[in-house]
Amino acid sequence: MSAQKVAVVTGGNKGIGYAIVKGLCEKFQGIVYLTARDVGRGEAAVSKLKELGFNPLFHQLDIDDQGSITKLKNHLVEKHGGLDLLVNNAAIAFKNDAPDPFSEQAKTTVAVNYFSLLRVCETLFPILRQNARVVNLSSSAGHLSRIPSPELRAKFSNPNLTVPQLNKLMEQFVQDAKANKHQEAGWGTSAYVVSKVGVSALTRIQQREFDKEAPNRNISVNSVHPGYVDTDMTSHKGPWTIEQGARAPLFLALEAENLKGQYIWSNATVAQW
Ligand code: NDP
Repeated sequence: MSAQKVAVVTGGNKGIGYAIVKGLCEKFQGIVYLTARDVGRGEAAVSKLKELGFNPLFHQLDIDDQGSITKLKNHLVEKHGGLDLLVNNAAIAFKNDAPDPFSEQAKTTVAVNYFSLLRVCETLFPILRQNARVVNLSSSAGHLSRIPSPELRAKFSNPNLTVPQLNKLMEQFVQDAKANKHQEAGWGTSAYVVSKVGVSALTRIQQREFDKEAPNRNISVNSVHPGYVDTDMTSHKGPWTIEQGARAPLFLALEAENLKGQYIWSNATVAQW
């Protein structure tokens, strides 16, 4: 079993996740796992990085599949005994012109971006080591102000909000979307926004729970808006390169000192949520 530090990035085969893996290969003092749901796409990305002189390891991870998450956990425990850095990058966004009914978009987007991310955390948090860091990719869309209803905003920002209560809020959105009353209920018109506000709110709760239950482990959890980036997700409309988009997540992963439970903007400064 190695005593080296270990980092895992979800959705590392392309886009910002790929650039985060690349940046970690340059600067993280330890082993870097590029994970991807598709083995072929993941191994191709690893080969590309090897051609650049980097040496990430690959492990399959589909965040929608509990079996896949558990396999990764078992592998990390067996080979390394724990985990020091988790970057929750994988996510989806329906295109504006997607033909899928809004109710379906709501269900799928919240399932992947919020509930699957939560499942990864619940499975891997028990193996986080002392001083571990967790970086959750949120978005400008994950800013609380993006939820129109003041009542809903108050629920999301309640300093005593728990994960089960947040889960209920996310489920409520999916139900409201199914009944086509999400707008009148104050959720707005974007499933991606709700999923990412959920990620930002979850980050605050996760930090509070670590501080309460394991204050001596010095674990930090922060969320980040990476900027508007030239990736498949934005249909390549974002002006930033993936390396620029990886900067703020890498700042949280490698440099930030004493940032806990914060929402970080793309210029690597703390933003009011
Ligand atoms: P991309 O669409 O380019 O890449 C998304 C990555 O997530 C891909 O590797 C994709 O894998 C992976 N993924 C999706 N679903 C799963 C799953 N179930 N299991 C494992 N991996 C999965 O997105 P970006 O690089 O643009 O975005 C990265 C992060 O940054 C996301 O969280 C996004 O919400 C956030 N973000 C992006 C912004 C931007 O301007 N690009 C702005 C604000 C936030 P596959 O190739 O198999 O589909």
